[in-house]
Amino acid sequence: MKFNSKTVHAGAEPDPLTGAVMTPIYQTSTFAQRAPGDHLGYEYARTHNPTRTALQKCLAELENGIEAFAFSSGMGAVDAVIKLLSVGDHVLCNADVYGGTYRLFTNTFSRLGIQFSFEDLDKHHNPEELIQPNTRLIWVETPSNPLLRIIDISRWAEIAHKHKALFCVDNTFATPALQNPLDLGADIVVHSLTKYLGGHSDTVGGAVVVKNKSLAEQIQFNQNSSGAVPGPFDCFLVLRGIKTLALRMQKHCENAKLIAEFLKAHSQVSQVYYPGLPEHEGFETAQRQMIDFGGMVSFRLKSDDMKSAKKVVSQTRLFLLAESLGGVESLIGHPSTMTHASIPIEQRLKNGITDGLIRLSVGIEDPEDLIADLNQALNSLD
Ligand code: PLP
Repeated sequence: MKFNSKTVHAGAEPDPLTGAVMTPIYQTSTFAQRAPGDHLGYEYARTHNPTRTALQKCLAELENGIEAFAFSSGMGAVDAVIKLLSVGDHVLCNADVYGGTYRLFTNTFSRLGIQFSFEDLDKHHNPEELIQPNTRLIWVETPSNPLLRIIDISRWAEIAHKHKALFCVDNTFATPALQNPLDLGADIVVHSLTKYLGGHSDTVGGAVVVKNKSLAEQIQFNQNSSGAVPGPFDCFLVLRGIKTLALRMQKHCENAKLIAEFLKAHSQVSQVYYPGLPEHEGFETAQRQMIDFGGMVSFRLKSDDMKSAKKVVSQTRLFLLAESLGGVESLIGHPSTMTHASIPIEQRLKNGITDGLIRLSVGIEDPEDLIADLNQALNSLD
């Protein structure tokens, strides 16, 4: 089945009891058994729930994995992957990961004895130098958050496997509509379902997708034993969102390209970060590994200061000032005080997250309206 058909049909069998075409919301915590152990495959809803099963089957098909596991948030999914590791293991990670991921790695898991290093994996000329004898996992976000850096998935998959490490890609920004890391060599894909997969800013969720049985068993164990599972209504909302994923992504990409071009020409903007611009450092790699370049655009103001950035992000009307991304509506954010505030200032500046950096999640509105909104906000600096 081609991708656009999968978004509509994957995991969506008519309900065996009633024939309902849309997956029902099985709002139950437990399931009756005929005799101890004699049941229909469902015992207790932390372990399995039919609405969650439908979502997990859908996600596995979209990412070309063998199994997927849904979580109550993207961070719940990240947590389940790191719990594959043990004390003394090392994780190599790209430098500009989502602030919440950085915080979980450095505040929680490093306290529990797992080591992390954060490096510019898109630029390093001698990547093998970054591998340590105890490196068990390489973790990348591509496109990265918020500078939309592109990391070569096939290259890093090869390096990870040469050193017997697992390779995980956070595919939240690209979605399976634009990039399929498991096909490019990754072992694990992570998603914040809160973003494009849900697509309507009305639910929080996460997912892990894998392509081998042993990893599937371990993630399922972590999902059930830690218990960060989504409720059935949240699973229903994500399933509903996924049905229009392909269409939405096409429009997000079209609009983002137009906005990146507009920003490039604006006198108040010094730099635009969008992997679809030929001058973007990762353009060629993005062209190779992505179907299109996504709906996220970041830019730096010429003045590069807090006062101007605060003025611009408070001045837009259609672009709402809010955390998150990937919904049908456009959002504007200020990474240094919002999504990436949990990263220490020295690390933040080293990663290029200065006070004048602004991030856009470009929605599916009319591009003329979006550009007019950004134009009036930027012109307020004149
Ligand atoms: N990964 C990326 C790339 C994100 O942007 C986010 C959240 O912004 C997460 C993971 C965490 O997801 P959630 O907010 O659903 O826990």
